[in-house]
Amino acid sequence: PVYLDYNATTPVDPRVLEAMLPWFTEHFGNAASRTHLYGWTAEEAVATARKQVAKLLRANLKEVVFTSGATEANNLAIKGVFEKYSYKGTHIITLATEHKAVLDTCHHIEQLGGEVTYLMPDANGLITPKQVTDALRPDTILVSVMYANNEIGVIQPIREIAAVAHAGGALFHTDATQAVGKLPIDMVEEGIDLLSLSAHKLYGPKGIGALVVRQGVEITAQMDGGGHERGRRSGTLNVPGIVGLGKACELAQKEMSAETQRLGLLRDRLEKGILANISHTFVNGNTPQRLAHLTNICFEYVDGENLLLSLKDIAVSTGSACTSASVLPSYVLKILGLTDNQAYASLRFSLGRFSTEEEIDFALQHVVEVVERMRVGSAV
Ligand code: PMP
Repeated sequence: PVYLDYNATTPVDPRVLEAMLPWFTEHFGNAASRTHLYGWTAEEAVATARKQVAKLLRANLKEVVFTSGATEANNLAIKGVFEKYSYKGTHIITLATEHKAVLDTCHHIEQLGGEVTYLMPDANGLITPKQVTDALRPDTILVSVMYANNEIGVIQPIREIAAVAHAGGALFHTDATQAVGKLPIDMVEEGIDLLSLSAHKLYGPKGIGALVVRQGVEITAQMDGGGHERGRRSGTLNVPGIVGLGKACELAQKEMSAETQRLGLLRDRLEKGILANISHTFVNGNTPQRLAHLTNICFEYVDGENLLLSLKDIAVSTGSACTSASVLPSYVLKILGLTDNQAYASLRFSLGRFSTEEEIDFALQHVVEVVERMRVGSAV
């Protein structure tokens, strides 16, 4: 099937794999071994990767904390700030349409006695800085708002939200998993204190990511041990993974703008084609403020649960892959105001580096045929 689920995960770019390979076998040293060449060599490779990650986000290399991915980075950011700053206050503000890695971490904070405000977005999935201002309290220590939504791709006004968070005396964290390598990000300009990212969303390997923590911001480690990563995350470093993440960031930096342009045209071709050829369809998260490589479309008057099963020749998703073990409709789409069936009957098409025009035309034709077939006999 044609792969159109790049938001779930991306293949490793062959150039990334090539950069990683020597670090499994030839250069296998422990980056924490300070007494011999094996260790120094690995440490040097990690330092290069740290620079590559930092450069993409305009951060400092000392600010990069390698983790096992964005789930861990979100846990470390939210729990780490809560633990460190709970003497100041225990209130956190986030968004109801965050990824589960943020929402469930916030539920954990509530179990620990913290208080969390979940902001409701508008029908397109966006929140306003004013909503954040209104929710801020003297005891608010953290505002955590995702950069771009994984299901509908809408991009929040990050710079403005960070500014109001700071004006209210709170730190600002963003889960930028779906934005890193897709949008230019400048942590300094945008006022981001903590940022989560994951390599497997930008053509790097799975199981590696980072939390970038601006200088002066403190977090309590959630993984205690040998004191790696300046005491912020213990555990022997995943050197091949880190090298892969670094290389993926370097490639993204060079290729992002051309790639965004190319994928934007392909996405528009698919989206316009679907809207023009299939009646009773609409875009979820219908705002120009969204990722260029993604469209989430609702097909009304089809049985949502059968839709995905009928689309055998393309790999797409409903809701997020992370919750696809359950048959519940997407909570994100429900918050936008969709009914259960509209949510089930919504498909997320996410394109990527290896998507071609032929694939898009094939996907369009396939979707048109399947939806027409499913609607035969219905009143539409
Ligand atoms: N946050 C967002 C917005 C995501 O899309 C994902 C991946 N589905 C994650 C966090 C979790 O990332 P990881 O797979 O690296 O744990």
